[in-house]
Amino acid sequence: MRFAKNENGHKIEVEYSGQRANCGCCNSIVVGKKGRVRPKYWSHLSTKDCDSWYEPMTQWHIDWQNKFPKQCQEIEMVGSNGIKHRADIRLNNGKVIEVQNSQIKIDDIEQREKFYNSNGQLYWILNGGNLLQSCSIKYKKKRKGHYISVYIPQYTSESSYYDFDEIREKFLESNSVKELKSLIPYKDEVIRNGTELQFNFENEVDFFGIIENLKNDAHDVITNYYEGDYRDVLFEMKFDYYSESYDDFYNVQLNKLYWRKFIDVMKSPVYIDNLKGLDNDHIYYYQKNRILKKVELLSSLTG
Ligand SMILES: [Zn+2]
Repeated sequence: MRFAKNENGHKIEVEYSGQRANCGCCNSIVVGKKGRVRPKYWSHLSTKDCDSWYEPMTQWHIDWQNKFPKQCQEIEMVGSNGIKHRADIRLNNGKVIEVQNSQIKIDDIEQREKFYNSNGQLYWILNGGNLLQSCSIKYKKKRKGHYISVYIPQYTSESSYYDFDEIREKFLESNSVKELKSLIPYKDEVIRNGTELQFNFENEVDFFGIIENLKNDAHDVITNYYEGDYRDVLFEMKFDYYSESYDDFYNVQLNKLYWRKFIDVMKSPVYIDNLKGLDNDHIYYYQKNRILKKVELLSSLTG
């Protein structure tokens, strides 16, 4: 286990090997173990771990616990029969999170769900990186964003004197560009390769109307300054917009190669971390076949 209590009853982690403290659960003496490979942990001195569901700590485990306040990590809970277990994470709202790095027996799953759901609500987080090494997941992402894009052609067959940098600068000085930049949700502009302009906004605006104005100004820039020499440039200029208010993940497909059947026994919500193909800041909600951001999961658990 990760925490023990000192003589003042405070929750402490191991500082050095051989350090002594008491188990917060059974009060017997525990000894600090601190090596080079495994994360440091407390070991019961004379008995087996008093929690029959004890499993070795891993760094992945600790990282998940650390996403929550210390007073919610490794919490003793007492069942109606007086038997105690340590929940990996127990929140003040009664939600219990078990982070599971290794295989678990079906009987244990049923007992744990019964135990934790009897006075709370259990959630599983599984380490796909360890448990489901052959499985992988695919999904499509739609990113949140609002922008207008303008493409200026790099050259024209009509004239060898064409200079897209000049056209771009004149266009950027036009009234319609100044106007869109004065809108409150305007954020910034990005220019790629000198020919692709992107005007970013915080939220949705009248993209259609703005693009009409931009097209008019592009027309004026080209016909006034260049006396109509570069009309095919005008023809090839592209105006477009993109507007999505939130990130979305869809077409989620899990490839269950060497799947672990015990997962299907779990009735409480199962979230899988570290699957092949899954972004680091995302997690997979198995029963709903849904991808969500870890921050979303955390706020739904704590909220
Ligand atoms: Zn104990």
